[in-house]
Amino acid sequence: MHILVFNCGSSSIKYRLFDMQDERIIMSGLIEKIGQPDASHTQNGKQCPIHAPDHASAMADLCDHILRNKHDIAAVGHRVVHGGETFKSAIRITPDIERTIEQLGAFAPLHNPHNLSGIRAAQKNFPKAVHVAVFDTAFHQTAPPHAYLYALPYAFYEQDHMRRYGFHGTSHRYVSQRAALLLGHPFTGITCHLGNGCSITAIQNGQSIDTSMGFTPLEGVPMGTRSGNTDPALVLNLARRFGIDETDQLLNRKSGLLGLSGLSNDLRALQHAAESGHQLAALSLDVFAYHIRKHIGAYLAVLGHADAIVFTGGIGENSIDMRSRILKNLDGLGIQLDPDRNTQHTGTEGFISTPTSPIKLLVIPTDEERLIARDTHQLILAM
Ligand code: ADP
Repeated sequence: MHILVFNCGSSSIKYRLFDMQDERIIMSGLIEKIGQPDASHTQNGKQCPIHAPDHASAMADLCDHILRNKHDIAAVGHRVVHGGETFKSAIRITPDIERTIEQLGAFAPLHNPHNLSGIRAAQKNFPKAVHVAVFDTAFHQTAPPHAYLYALPYAFYEQDHMRRYGFHGTSHRYVSQRAALLLGHPFTGITCHLGNGCSITAIQNGQSIDTSMGFTPLEGVPMGTRSGNTDPALVLNLARRFGIDETDQLLNRKSGLLGLSGLSNDLRALQHAAESGHQLAALSLDVFAYHIRKHIGAYLAVLGHADAIVFTGGIGENSIDMRSRILKNLDGLGIQLDPDRNTQHTGTEGFISTPTSPIKLLVIPTDEERLIARDTHQLILAM
């Protein structure tokens, strides 16, 4: 059975076509800069310029291209960022489900509308396929109220659904399932998704019990351009001075590594700059590592016991230096990084802890699209 997976962002469409017999990827690619004159389509490492004025036309051309190569697509799995409290697992998309995803756009205005336009365009081009939504928030729906509630008047939760939702759920679920296989038992521990967006999750027996992102992906540790946690009064102060929209931009797009360093949101660029003596680049790396380390400490207390800590995402999978900054001198907590093993894993799966470390350390490249394909496949088999 062939299953196609779409991940539609604000200006990009990532796609993968799987043969579910052996989960082999038979086609994959990325369309970027939709709506811009330099839009491009990268497939098999080759980038070609394309005309993509909007999502619908990019999707129509892409589906055409896919259909020319493969006709028998049984199902399409779609990444949807916000599933609110309604969606706790993957679901077949019906007109009712589509409406709910649209309503949830109020919580994720930068994401759900793009996810939805991808769904609509794909439905048009693959009318016979079953379409399935897989939500970033779903994995965290097992968190208990004491973890997901803010200490605000309860009515804001009851009436306005203001609570912590958490994101990157498909990535945290994928790497925790993979870790369970490598460890040989259900996963209890911490998963660190460190990319442009960053989140840390506490997982007990395979279930998320807390995660660092909250009502929006702005909460938690510092990220490429997002501030992560700040004092809410500081946000009020900024909003009074600059207005709501400017403050929104400031916290979401001009903060984090970029804001602190004044240089870049890209960790590699900051590491190079720090090595050449750029002090704010060095400081931004210190702040980033410190907050992640602090979150790991908090989740060790939340869990009471952890078998392993997993690193994933562009930074978690690749940065030897950032992993060692985060994990330095944690022997007292039962965490022993093996410096040699650490250097052996850039983008490859494996253990990076010493053989005797009470808490194992793992690098696991994430694969959200594969998990979306699996969820979609399982739904079809159960139909
Ligand atoms: P996104 O959240 O946009 O998917 P990624 O998961 O690709 O982002 O992560 C992007 C981050 O990963 C960037 O900060 C980039 O510098 C960092 N990164 C990628 N490769 C490496 C590497 N080899 N060493 C250090 N950092 C890396």
